[in-house]
Amino acid sequence: MNPFIKEIELSNYGEMFLNPELVDMMYYAKEKGINLICYNGANFNTVTDEQIHALVDTGFKAIVLSIDGASQESYSQYRIGGNFDKVMENVKKVQNLKKKTGSKFPELKWQYILMEHNELEIGKAKEMAAELGIPISFKYNWDENYEPVHREYIMKETGKTQLTEAEFAAVHEVSPFNGLCEQIFIRPQINWDGRMLACCTRRYATFDINVFEVGLIEAIRSPKYIEAKECLMTVHPDKEKYGSCTCWDCPTRKKRENAGLAFKL
Ligand code: SF4
Repeated sequence: MNPFIKEIELSNYGEMFLNPELVDMMYYAKEKGINLICYNGANFNTVTDEQIHALVDTGFKAIVLSIDGASQESYSQYRIGGNFDKVMENVKKVQNLKKKTGSKFPELKWQYILMEHNELEIGKAKEMAAELGIPISFKYNWDENYEPVHREYIMKETGKTQLTEAEFAAVHEVSPFNGLCEQIFIRPQINWDGRMLACCTRRYATFDINVFEVGLIEAIRSPKYIEAKECLMTVHPDKEKYGSCTCWDCPTRKKRENAGLAFKL
């Protein structure tokens, strides 16, 4: 119904590998020439051999792996119930199959959220990522109370000069999560049940519109959706006009307004 779509992100606050129709979706996307990505992250605990085969066979573009630790002990403190060895085994299976078939896809990327309990495993994680042949990146913690303990070590190992969102914002004037607002302009976010979202972070705030009922074009042309975009592109939006819009109360928008900035694409 929307042949202009070139790429679809399949993840958001849920593990895509738990969806029993995932393999069918991958082959359908391949048939339609649509790239599939999972940049929002997969914990990669439950991926089946059939899914691994389909990932490589259909050329699934890229997956960010949410692995915040380099041992079961640290990993399972945040990824509760997760099995670190199982994740590593699944990563190896994908990498081996890619090698065997000469495929570049899916590109796997290790994402490591910085937390007090995993700080000292950064070096080990880097070594493991190099052995697996995948890049690793270190992500800011969304918890505003996080205070890095081993600052010098983290800076040396990650190359970062700011270690928290607040430190980044103080230097760059806006939050590192500012780019999230791009989604409402160029990557519309649709919840699994069809509800239109402003972006991946606002999974409960919708525009009272269901894409599966009205279609994507009508959804992105709906007055409330357009109003939210106008609000984001205004430095000091009028509360009377925009105060009820989905993005109004979002901390990302407020921080930007406090810094005297409007969102720019
Ligand atoms: S202002 Fe907040 S809710 Fe709105 S798009 Fe940006 S990050 Fe998402």
